[in-house]
Amino acid sequence: MDAPLAPLTTLRLGGPARRLVTAGTDAEVVAAVRAADAAGEPLLVLGGGSNLVIGDAGFPGTVLRIATEGFALDGTLLELAAGEVWSDAVARTVAAGLAGLEFLAGIPGSAGATPVQNVGAYGQEVAESITEVVAYDRLLGESVTLANADCAFSYRHSRFKADPDRYVVLRVRFRLADEGGLSSPVKYAEVARAMGVEPEQRVKLGDAHAEVLRLRAGKGMVLDAADHDTWSAGSFFTNPVLTDAQFAAFTARLGDLRAPAYPAGEGLTKTSAAWLIDNAGFRKGHGSGPATLSTKHTLALTNRGSATTEDLLALAREVRDGVRAAFGVELVNEPVMVGVSL
Ligand SMILES: Cc1cc2nc3c(=O)[nH]c(=O)nc-3n(C[C@H](O)[C@H](O)[C@H](O)COP(=O)(O)OP(=O)(O)OC[C@H]3O[C@@H](n4cnc5c(N)ncnc54)[C@H](O)[C@@H]3O)c2cc1C
Repeated sequence: MDAPLAPLTTLRLGGPARRLVTAGTDAEVVAAVRAADAAGEPLLVLGGGSNLVIGDAGFPGTVLRIATEGFALDGTLLELAAGEVWSDAVARTVAAGLAGLEFLAGIPGSAGATPVQNVGAYGQEVAESITEVVAYDRLLGESVTLANADCAFSYRHSRFKADPDRYVVLRVRFRLADEGGLSSPVKYAEVARAMGVEPEQRVKLGDAHAEVLRLRAGKGMVLDAADHDTWSAGSFFTNPVLTDAQFAAFTARLGDLRAPAYPAGEGLTKTSAAWLIDNAGFRKGHGSGPATLSTKHTLALTNRGSATTEDLLALAREVRDGVRAAFGVELVNEPVMVGVSL
């Protein structure tokens, strides 16, 4: 049986799967993984399909769609089943008066995928509030509980992303904070400006949540089926993290231009992928084919309706190569590639 995958991704791209299994309980997830592994069948775990670029040839194995449910709040401790819709769960924590996830509003996809690339936005990332991840370990053939320190979280990365064929996330546990109805400190300058506060100040939780949704919608970063600018995988490239030597070489090429630069740990500087793309001459809406940059955000590559994955990858390569030629910086894709590479 061939099952279409494109409708299960936010890019609406990719060929069919040989087999599609939907699991509604943890036991069904584990049984499906065990069955695929026992048969030596390739396995692709699918949440909301919002961070996946699936090749036009599709997937020659089992695609396991995680549809488990569970939102359990005990004081400030939250446990989410992997299949919970992330943005709904965030809204519920805000409604419950708890801080910790409010700046992660509106991010598409499932709760179980959030530890995979340490989902983050507007100065917050899940690594700050995750206490434990319960996962099925395909190597050991049993469920394991990994403490935060064992998840190797870093910028848009984790142990789960580093070792994609080993863990299937079943549950994610968080410690949130009761700040008397206030948010975590505002970290992101754009949010602080928009809310008329100084960075590090706290604001009303509900206001922080609403402001993030407003800012995201303005950039096409909240899903809207009627708006092709949101037929994307979010940011297509991660922000480059440069060593001191790389950063010196980069700034030497800039002339009068000044690029954003943020400290990213000892001897490392993070710059902005969106800035690089824009200043390499790729403006919002760039491209004449069925795949173009979003008209609202240079960092999102979008399907205007009739694109193939190859169209999208051709655009991604054009942007990556253009940025390399202009600035000597190598952009790296953020979404997970299935059966294709840049
Ligand atoms: C409009 C838009 C805006 C976005 N904005 C942001 C943003 O602000 N910040 C950000 O960090 N990301 C953002 N993203 C990317 C994406 O939403 C996140 O990475 C999200 O966590 C992906 O969840 P998903 O369920 O859709 O994962 P999928 O796309 O289904 O899968 C992504 C990867 O995770 C794996 N995976 C999924 N579920 C599990 C599981 N239970 N166990 C093990 N592996 C699993 C898959 O195999 C795959 O490798 C955005 C995407 C879009 C389309």
